[in-house]
Amino acid sequence: MRKKIVAGNWKMNKTFEEGLALASEIINIAKDEHIQKAILVINPPFIHLNALQKLIPQNTNVFLGAQNCYHQKSGAFTGEISVDMLKSIGVQYTIIGHSERREYFNETSEQLAQKINLLLEASITPIFCCGESLSIRESGEHLAYVAQQITEALFHLSAENLQKIVIAYEPIWAIGTGKTASSAQAQEMHAYLRNHLTSKYGETIAQSISILYGGSCNPQNAKELFACADIDGGLIGGASLKSRDFISIAQSF
Ligand code: PEP
Repeated sequence: MRKKIVAGNWKMNKTFEEGLALASEIINIAKDEHIQKAILVINPPFIHLNALQKLIPQNTNVFLGAQNCYHQKSGAFTGEISVDMLKSIGVQYTIIGHSERREYFNETSEQLAQKINLLLEASITPIFCCGESLSIRESGEHLAYVAQQITEALFHLSAENLQKIVIAYEPIWAIGTGKTASSAQAQEMHAYLRNHLTSKYGETIAQSISILYGGSCNPQNAKELFACADIDGGLIGGASLKSRDFISIAQSF
């Protein structure tokens, strides 16, 4: 059975105090309401990580993730954060290749492949983001375009390592816009990507990979999206900044 995952991408939001308060609320509600169907991953800004790690109790389904890491192991890269640093404070997941990073920071597939290798060496689970712009969707090339993103960043991996990846399909036109992909559009892409994984790694491995949907997912639309056969949860931006909304998305399976 594939893991059901709801990951919150806080992006560049929440001061340190606000972040502690939000994480505490999520942890407490998840405990009180026995949220057991899904793994919850909180991905705050880097400077919150160490303190938040200390808030997360043992034996919980709440995990800590980073929003990025650098693609080199260590060295003279002013301002960057390495995978070993994340590992040293107990980070268990890291978002890689979010469209905002690809667009504003010019991240390439080659760098993303390097990041993924470093994360896997450190036993941190990469949440690999992929997705097309509106113009690519309108051109009708979206399925092939997103499959190519996966080929470029993931297809160098062994089957054993591929199984350690989580994929997040995030159509760029749906991120932060309030415009969600319909469940049919999302399911079509997720099934296509799973077939693409099957073509390289075989059915058993492809069926074991969690593929999350991201893009204006909220408590109102999560149930319909998560009911789709190939959608295994969500990567949540705006709605992850309110504990109640984030939890109700996690209760939508
Ligand atoms: C995201 O940025 O990963 C995201 C899905 O954002 P939102 O939910 O706000 O569209």
